[in-house]
Amino acid sequence: MNASSRLPRVSIASLGGTVSMQPGDQHAGVTPRLDCEGLLRGLPQLGQLAQIEAQTLCLLPSASLDVPTLLEVLSWARCQVEQGAEAVVLTQGTDTLEESAYFLDLLWPFDAPLVMTGALRAASHPGADGPANLLAAVQVAIDDQSRGRGVLVVLNDTIHRATSVRKVASLAMAAFESPGVGPEGGVVEGAVSFHRPASTRIPLPVPVRAVPPIALLEACIDADTALLRALPALGYAGVVIAGFGAGHVSQAWAEALGELALAFPVIVASRTGNGPTARSTYGFVGGEIDLQARGVQMAGALCPRKCRVLLGVLLASELEGVVNRWLGP
Ligand code: GLU
Repeated sequence: MNASSRLPRVSIASLGGTVSMQPGDQHAGVTPRLDCEGLLRGLPQLGQLAQIEAQTLCLLPSASLDVPTLLEVLSWARCQVEQGAEAVVLTQGTDTLEESAYFLDLLWPFDAPLVMTGALRAASHPGADGPANLLAAVQVAIDDQSRGRGVLVVLNDTIHRATSVRKVASLAMAAFESPGVGPEGGVVEGAVSFHRPASTRIPLPVPVRAVPPIALLEACIDADTALLRALPALGYAGVVIAGFGAGHVSQAWAEALGELALAFPVIVASRTGNGPTARSTYGFVGGEIDLQARGVQMAGALCPRKCRVLLGVLLASELEGVVNRWLGP
């Protein structure tokens, strides 16, 4: 047995994003062009850490990732583990990373880590952070402490849980945070450490039906209810509201949401970006007590975008009746 065959097997796939972007010939600006092999060429030290299997699954800006693509990615990642990979690493654009990580986390059935990373600076940019992020992602992926934690997001030497991570800055290097709970751990000089033990996960079955359209609307001052009232006729199967403060809406929206809740699931989250919705504090019309009495679910600490992902996956498996299990305090 040679030395490399004793190294852990890690499968790495590229989906595109800034981490794989370079200037092209025809268009202004950078676009996804660097495939997974190209990404790995810049990181020869990975060969000392793991036996790497590389695959380019797509080369998209992450704004154009969709559920069917993510289901294909999931299927590929599951096959890798079933065929002996000890961990899987995905690179993608950071713009939608919090949503795709959460989607995959809901459906990831293994203790084997699924680690996602990306970059804020394009591959062609001086000081590109992609190689360092990919190296840290592999270091996390092969660490035993990462097992049983579902999908982890690793950027800027910081480890986040898929449930809590958010992109909080458009271009800054420290673009990812886990508001309210803080990061799950970190990587220092290649050493991985976690701040807390793994928590219990309830992986969902892969949906057998198509994930239905779920609307996401933000409560704004003096907003009318025309879009809300149009949703059922437009074919939506549920709605998530990014509500004011601790999960509040206007009186007019409260009435409209109560009517919608008779037709399909309605979740109200907080638009603040930090902290949970309330459950039993405010008594005004449109406050959380009134909304719950109208059949609306409060999101807890789950952000509006992740509520939308959750509701779609649950509806596709006819499990929306137990949505509360995933909406934490
Ligand atoms: N800033 C984004 C990125 O980090 C832009 C492109 C994308 O999300 O694909 O990748």
